[in-house]
Amino acid sequence: MSPAPPPVDQWFRPFGVLRLSLTARCNLACPYCCPDSEELPGLMRLDQQVRLVRVACGLGVHTLRLTGGEPLLSDRLLPLLEALAAGRSNAADPLARLKEVALTTNGVLLTPEKALALRAAGLDRITVSLDALEGGVVATMAGLRGGQRVGERLVEQVLGGLSAARRAGFEPASGGLKLNAVMRRGLNDSQLLPLATLARERGVELRLIEYMDVGNRNGWAPDQVISAAEMVQRIDARWPLRPLPRESGATSRRWSYEDGRGLIGTIASITEPFCGDCNRLRVTADGQAFTCLFASEGTDLRPFLHNEKTLEAVLRGLWRRRRDRYSEERQGFTASAPHAEMAYLGG
Ligand code: SAM
Ligand code: SF4
Repeated sequence: MSPAPPPVDQWFRPFGVLRLSLTARCNLACPYCCPDSEELPGLMRLDQQVRLVRVACGLGVHTLRLTGGEPLLSDRLLPLLEALAAGRSNAADPLARLKEVALTTNGVLLTPEKALALRAAGLDRITVSLDALEGGVVATMAGLRGGQRVGERLVEQVLGGLSAARRAGFEPASGGLKLNAVMRRGLNDSQLLPLATLARERGVELRLIEYMDVGNRNGWAPDQVISAAEMVQRIDARWPLRPLPRESGATSRRWSYEDGRGLIGTIASITEPFCGDCNRLRVTADGQAFTCLFASEGTDLRPFLHNEKTLEAVLRGLWRRRRDRYSEERQGFTASAPHAEMAYLGG
């Protein structure tokens, strides 16, 4: 029997993607994100995380993205991947509907051993975040004291992580390995072309993210946003680009280089909001579910995590009631109402 269609929300958007944060802690301190130094109290247990993913898959989720804080700091990551892999290999388990398990990481702890272990445990894709190649700039973007030297060491670690992931079998050509960069005017915009050069050389898709007004701590101001259109224009002036058709449910718009040397993507949630086909639910490491990256309040799933039937009813109801269209409703470059922190939601 084929599975029931996913529930749709108030704007007829189907449930499709779960983004699960494993920790609020981070080993970097990017000022645009502002992570906690302490872990959240009441983290979900492994059995609760697996139940949550299984129930979400029963409701139509086909993609799971693990995030943070920095997910490689979490000792739950490998056991979770292994438990999910066991479920995915059993056709009778809703987890078998999971087409893709992906990870977003700052790459600092992505050693060759870790990359191999992640692959062996069933991880399909890795996105590594890196905002600059120049030491002083990267140190500022990552909130590190110590300037150029410390930044150069960071770049070395992250590029080492990229290489390790590639050697472990995360294939850039099939989207198994990507690079994320947040661009802030006056801080790291000098790094746009160097990052594009690096991504082209390594055959990795570079995803350029507009600086977002997520959370309440980062002092977001509209004049620091570089629009996706400007980023594309600047790269196109150096290496001509051709737009690709937008995929349904995708947050990014994508371009291919006319010379055939790979792709770039842009995530333009400030200037070109994409609420229309948003299919994501975000769950924090302590079990708070958010139906929008910009929501101010979540729903505490912890009282329901012990039982699949109850959890299914709660998630279905949450999705059906969902009406969020924050990015489209806000007036472009304006400051906004309070909302949850990025380091809890994980992007
Ligand atoms: N620590 C991991 C990392 O940095 O990749 C995973 C968590 S991080 C919150 C996920 C993504 O969100 C990163 O690519 C990061 O650059 C992006 N991000 C964080 N704060 C942001 C902001 N205010 N605007 C745009 N992107 C942001
Ligand atoms: Fe840490 Fe990622 Fe936030 Fe930077 S963006 S502080 S690496 S969680």
